[in-house]
Amino acid sequence: MTDNQLQRSRLIVRSLFFLLFLLAPALNIFRFDLTTTNFIVFNQVLSFGISKEWLLASDYWDTGLRILGYFILPIILTVVAGIYVFYKWGRLYCGWLCPHFSVVEYINGLMSRRTGRVTLWENAKFDNEQDAQRSKVFDWIVIVLVSMTIAFLWALGLLSYLLPPIPLYTDLINFEVDLYPLIFLVVATTVFTIDFVLARHLFCKYGCAFGVMQSLFWMMNSKAMLVKFDRDRAKACQSCDKDCETACPMRLPVRSFKRAKFTCTQCAQCISACQEVQKDNPEGTLLDWSKGEKSRHSSLIPVKTIEPKKRHNNKMK
Ligand code: SF4
Ligand code: SF4
Repeated sequence: MTDNQLQRSRLIVRSLFFLLFLLAPALNIFRFDLTTTNFIVFNQVLSFGISKEWLLASDYWDTGLRILGYFILPIILTVVAGIYVFYKWGRLYCGWLCPHFSVVEYINGLMSRRTGRVTLWENAKFDNEQDAQRSKVFDWIVIVLVSMTIAFLWALGLLSYLLPPIPLYTDLINFEVDLYPLIFLVVATTVFTIDFVLARHLFCKYGCAFGVMQSLFWMMNSKAMLVKFDRDRAKACQSCDKDCETACPMRLPVRSFKRAKFTCTQCAQCISACQEVQKDNPEGTLLDWSKGEKSRHSSLIPVKTIEPKKRHNNKMK
């Protein structure tokens, strides 16, 4: 798969997941109805097949086995499968599915095009002097408005996981939303807007417990998939302006060792950037996915290398 195909596949997968995240409650795929305190899964009330009549006709064994088979075992299997994925491939969920990371990448692109940088504390880079000189006020208004719109969609999407979605949308269109849902929408939209404008990737790095947990399992595996830098050909970087690091949505030192890339999301933007830079180089990219090597650089707890003791006669030489 070429880098373009890879990024295109990733765009399709994460866009579909983003739509699923927003529309799952409205399509009754998954939601918790606060008004009836029921989980709805694929248009059915989640009851594990346990009704009042069934309970009266069953003994303790039947009930225990039903709960084990319908509830506990599926949870255990999901957790085990998840841990296996995190251990082998790291934060694949973040880079390929997570709706928050999709927003990180989208706003990064928008900010980069409009202001020449993706965070406030980086120096702006422009292709020409004219772009560098012009006022950025309008660009910032666009960035904040786009962020607010996405933040509102997020807030509405989250609220529809708790309240029946169709009546909620109808109330919204008719400006008849109740007080508490309205407070939720205002507060959540404000918080998400601040996050999207100022701290997108910082939330992914330090604020998301699920992301950090994936990283921890990944770091425990010294053979896990990892973006590796071909150090032997490092001279080829001399003519490049660190395009890989500019492309990294998490602002990581892409060419460094694994511990420095603890929060890597396996998005492969760095690989794609280097493939573009090195497209005329017959040896190709300097960055690629590879299995990690068992080294002190790729494991969470540094492996202590114990040097063999020098022989006494060597010392005497
Ligand atoms: S290091 Fe590469 S794969 Fe990891 S987050 Fe940055 S761009 Fe994505
Ligand atoms: S994009 Fe490739 S050539 Fe440029 S700095 Fe990164 S690894 Fe080096």
